[in-house]
Amino acid sequence: MSISQHYPCINSKNTEQTDTALLEKQYGHLVGKHPDNVTISEIKDAGHTNTPLVKIMRKKCIECCGFEISEVRKCVSTTCPLWPYRMGKNPFQSTKYKNTAEV
Ligand code: SF4
Repeated sequence: MSISQHYPCINSKNTEQTDTALLEKQYGHLVGKHPDNVTISEIKDAGHTNTPLVKIMRKKCIECCGFEISEVRKCVSTTCPLWPYRMGKNPFQSTKYKNTAEV
């Protein structure tokens, strides 16, 4: 099950746009194109930037917490795939853990 199935994107209303190069029709329904089938220019034109994935995860967590930034740190949903990354850092790449056995 994908994250979006657990946490519907509040920006999903924006997919109502029909003039974007990022969408296509499939069986009469508007769907997002596979990113492999979109140019970088089209992605940038839609307002996306080349951002580190952990920063994107952080943004998603902030959105998940109703934009209450302090709530992200307190998140108790430890089974959420984003939980280790919610502070915008990858703990598996942190120097804090470099000397531990399982990194
Ligand atoms: S880690 Fe917590 S705040 Fe982040 S998406 Fe998951 S449930 Fe939401």
